[in-house]
Amino acid sequence: MTGSPIGRSLADSLRWAEEGTDLCARAVDGLEEEQYAEGTTLPGWTRAQLVAHLAANAEALRNLAHWAATGEETPMYSSPEQRNADIEAGASRPPAVLRNLFHEEAGALAADLARLAEEQWVHTIRTAQGREVPASEIPWLRAREVMVHVVDLGTGVSFADLPEDFLHALEADICAKRGKRATDVEGTLAARVGYLAGRTTWGVTGADGSPAPELPPWL
Ligand code: ZN
Repeated sequence: MTGSPIGRSLADSLRWAEEGTDLCARAVDGLEEEQYAEGTTLPGWTRAQLVAHLAANAEALRNLAHWAATGEETPMYSSPEQRNADIEAGASRPPAVLRNLFHEEAGALAADLARLAEEQWVHTIRTAQGREVPASEIPWLRAREVMVHVVDLGTGVSFADLPEDFLHALEADICAKRGKRATDVEGTLAARVGYLAGRTTWGVTGADGSPAPELPPWL
């Protein structure tokens, strides 16, 4: 394996982004119109807001793909206010329009990424959090969003339904961000990742068997 210190390759990330997008597409297509206004398992978010966020995230990551392809600095969002405004504008659209927007943006991002050449994947870009990373991180950023938010959509997909190799990579990523070690949490892989992502608290304990304290949501 090549690429990142935690052992995920560009090919892995591209595959996970595609698999996660497929899961999201199925979840979004399966929603009845009235379900868009309902809440998700992510506190404070409706399904319409989350689908709008997934569409806007693809659009924002297309800016990074453009940056990698041309060298022209194009950040994900012009500001946090713009990010939030995009979500609200998207969420206020009729469900059928919002569903099409998700498919269009997800497809356009996949096409942009498929066009990047080997030498463009190593170009430095900057994430919305201000981290400078190689463009090869773009599909990983997308994979995280689609895989975690498809669980948040509350249509029946759980962390246990996500690919095992993706869960291992996500666990390593979140542990690094939270300054935790994977061995700090006991439980099945899916339960550990759900916990580390700040989504669930069932099925996990601390390494010494003590109850695991609740973590704030991540992503
Ligand atoms: Zn997100």
